[in-house]
Amino acid sequence: MGAGIIGATLAYHLSQRDGFDVTLLERDIPGSGASGHSFAWANAFGKDPREYHTLNRRSLDMWYRLAHQLDTDIGIHYGGEMRWENDPQRARQLRERIQQLQAWGYPCRLITRDEILALEPHLSPGPVLAASLSEADIHIETDVFIDVCLRRAREAEAIVYAQTSVTGFVIRDNNIAAVKTTNGEFSCDVVVLASGVQTTELASLARVHIPQQRSPGIVIKTTPCAEVLHNVAIIHAPSKDEKHQHLHLRQLSDGSLRIGQGTQEGINRDDSQQHADALLDRARAYLPVIADAKAIPTPVGYRPMPLDGFPVLGFTEAVPNLYITLMHSGVTLAPLVGEMATIEIADDVQVDWFASYRPERFGAS
Ligand SMILES: Cc1cc2nc3c(=O)[nH]c(=O)nc-3n(C[C@H](O)[C@H](O)[C@H](O)COP(=O)(O)OP(=O)(O)OC[C@H]3O[C@@H](n4cnc5c(N)ncnc54)[C@H](O)[C@@H]3O)c2cc1C
Repeated sequence: MGAGIIGATLAYHLSQRDGFDVTLLERDIPGSGASGHSFAWANAFGKDPREYHTLNRRSLDMWYRLAHQLDTDIGIHYGGEMRWENDPQRARQLRERIQQLQAWGYPCRLITRDEILALEPHLSPGPVLAASLSEADIHIETDVFIDVCLRRAREAEAIVYAQTSVTGFVIRDNNIAAVKTTNGEFSCDVVVLASGVQTTELASLARVHIPQQRSPGIVIKTTPCAEVLHNVAIIHAPSKDEKHQHLHLRQLSDGSLRIGQGTQEGINRDDSQQHADALLDRARAYLPVIADAKAIPTPVGYRPMPLDGFPVLGFTEAVPNLYITLMHSGVTLAPLVGEMATIEIADDVQVDWFASYRPERFGAS
């Protein structure tokens, strides 16, 4: 239940298996949860420790195969992530990070100021003490991708109910026999929770404990602009003074920009027009070509964020036919979770990659 990027990818993969009737229940419209508020940068750049980095890296690589399989526009923007630093300490940290990532086999490298300008001639980067390019990184227009997954799932006879909120479970012999919704009851063999921040509350209805932390974030939009990024998919620009955080920016196919600040986990609740204008002003300092763009504030988005920050994946011991898929970085992890969770559900196999991320690590409720 839940038609965000995780539920939609899973519905697609499960629907490709013979003998499985897939029903997807969504309380609002598909993509309206965290997936619609996301910066949607698929990467393993800042992911630690190494095992978690590798999980993200595997999934990042799987985006390319998924795009090939779906064989239509799924909203992917290729070209990598480019960043630079203007402060000596941060420049040293970037050089060290790139060395670490290269040792782990991540396709990234340090680049020069001239290379920045050759890749993105519209940029006015200011002082550059260190810069890097992570060539495999991409960003995804999540609404386009979710749409394609749901269309393919429907073509394979999956049923998608929007505006259908799950309200409870009928439990028999410790298993969920039926799901109660605002649209009636649905009997089931297996229930998958892909309900983002609501996963904690829904799991608790089955007496399963999946704790989360609150992680609000803001990614503002702009009105459409001419093409400003010609080669790379994402840029991270440094702050021009100590008051501000890093800026991240990507451009969608309709020309509009998405701009955020800080790290991928950064907390931000300011959804005011003033904040949106300030972010856009900072972006303009690097990209004078967007002078005419207007900032559009967006409501706060809440990241699904397990208490320890790592994904929660797998069947639960307390309710053996309840499968949990809760994670931050769900845009990065969707291809891997969609395909591997399908193997666990359909083929009754435990995928080793998920061993560190089982629901039981949080104990009982
Ligand atoms: C500001 C921000 C920036 C981010 N940046 C990145 C990034 O750069 N890279 C990255 O990889 N990840 C990023 N993330 C995280 C990523 O967006 C999420 O991990 C991912 O979208 C989770 O997808 P999901 O399908 O699990 O959850 P969601 O997209 O939240 O989907 C859950 C769905 O369940 C539905 N639902 C909830 N309760 C019920 C119910 N009772 N009945 C039926 N349906 C229900 C909801 O309506 C929703 O549609 C970011 C998130 C935010 C908010």
